[in-house]
Amino acid sequence: MIIINSPPKILLIIFFISLLLGSCSITKNPQELLVDTPLESQPLITVTPVLLPVNTPTNEQIPTSQPVNVETEFDLPDYKIKVSFNYGNQTANINETIRFFNTSTQPLNQLLLACDTLRYPGSFVLKKIIINNATEIDIEPEKFFLTIPLPEPLLPGEEINIEIDYLLKVPPIPPPADDRKPGIFGYSTLQTNFVDWYPFIPPLSENGEWVLHEPWFYGEYLVYDLANFHVEIELLNTPLGSTIAASTLPTILEENRFIYESFGARNFVWSMSPSFIVESLEMEGITITTHTFPFHQKAGSHVLQESAKAIDLYSRLFSPYPRENLTIVEADFLDGMEYDGLFFLSRGFYNLFDNTPQNYLTAIAVHETAHQWWYAAIANDQALEPWLDEALCTYSELLFYEEYYPELVNWWWEYRVNFYQPEGFINKSIYDYQGFIPYRNATYLQGAKFLQNLRDDLGDEVFFDFLSEYARSQNNKISNESNFFQILGNYTNQDVKKNYPQYFSLVQ
Ligand SMILES: [Zn+2]
Repeated sequence: MIIINSPPKILLIIFFISLLLGSCSITKNPQELLVDTPLESQPLITVTPVLLPVNTPTNEQIPTSQPVNVETEFDLPDYKIKVSFNYGNQTANINETIRFFNTSTQPLNQLLLACDTLRYPGSFVLKKIIINNATEIDIEPEKFFLTIPLPEPLLPGEEINIEIDYLLKVPPIPPPADDRKPGIFGYSTLQTNFVDWYPFIPPLSENGEWVLHEPWFYGEYLVYDLANFHVEIELLNTPLGSTIAASTLPTILEENRFIYESFGARNFVWSMSPSFIVESLEMEGITITTHTFPFHQKAGSHVLQESAKAIDLYSRLFSPYPRENLTIVEADFLDGMEYDGLFFLSRGFYNLFDNTPQNYLTAIAVHETAHQWWYAAIANDQALEPWLDEALCTYSELLFYEEYYPELVNWWWEYRVNFYQPEGFINKSIYDYQGFIPYRNATYLQGAKFLQNLRDDLGDEVFFDFLSEYARSQNNKISNESNFFQILGNYTNQDVKKNYPQYFSLVQ
């Protein structure tokens, strides 16, 4: 059963026109900030970014991962995906094998696979599905998912093997528009992005329902269980010097063949470009790599340095950094977007880079870095409780400025939050807000204000103890609001939701 939230259609019509669509960025169009933002409040700050030697974009110089020595969780869904990507016609032939274990307490009569690429007309072409290496089944894809009927119920503890052959015709990344979310899956002259590009099994709720929500025109709708990934990518007809940026570092890299292993991750994404400038640094066993377009090299180095500092800080404040790497990719679309082990940062932010940390390039880079905690390690239902990750990531920006650029704290509050005069309840689903702006103002900005109020009430020591316990206790889980307040209850006797009526609606 699919949990579908069906908001009134009228909302679609009323708010379609004025939407600023996005995920993690505060605005879809960073250029607009020049007009919209109180520039007079910006003190002049000069910093000298430390520039590392920059690698030229050749395959040999991409860092590779050591053979993975991670304890494999055998009951996690397991994805083996072989991709043959023809750059010349932007088409990928894909063979995907999913091994799924019924870890629920109920028999399953069918499986559901989220298939986001179905939302792009003509992109996903299903060729064949075979169950348990034997039975070929014939199904009709739905709007954004596949339903796999099972020949016999899959009992608790049993496993099933599903092999899917399909073709992905990568669509062009569309030009920015006010009536739709920026396209991420797609290609431009600068890059091809594979995000949410393979069918995957959504989480099962305690009631045995598939947690797959309706796509929406702002915010995120997918919820991810942990899974293991083995991805083999063959590139055909690529320009010389093409490189791949991916959720993990390749374990094997031979000419046009890239092999990746990722265990216990939310998803696996990759971006290919003939133009990436690759720069990386190592920090306590973590490899941080930026992939930047050639004309933004200096900004790319800045992003690398600041993200490394953010990882160091958040590892101390929340919990140890959950991955072996972080891959940062300049995006040829107007948005920032987090995935497991990788995030995209819009070229719009790079365009506005002014050699200081006092800009959206820096703030959003560390925001997206924080998502490696609040999204990847500690996941949540992005559709129903989007504030859980977005409020924490926005507030993490402030924590970064407090630590490294305390003189910019006031600027951050004014420029990032107060300027928008945010209002609205934090604890609503993406379907409840009347457009991207009210959604952002409530979940991101009111969310940050709530966390500051909470911190003021609890005091720093108690607040950070709570944050750390929350992060550590929810690591590798899909957290929810109840977990958040339950753990908070270990640190305060007050009924927090009731005590902050300006932030929390008690009516769901
Ligand atoms: Zn975000």
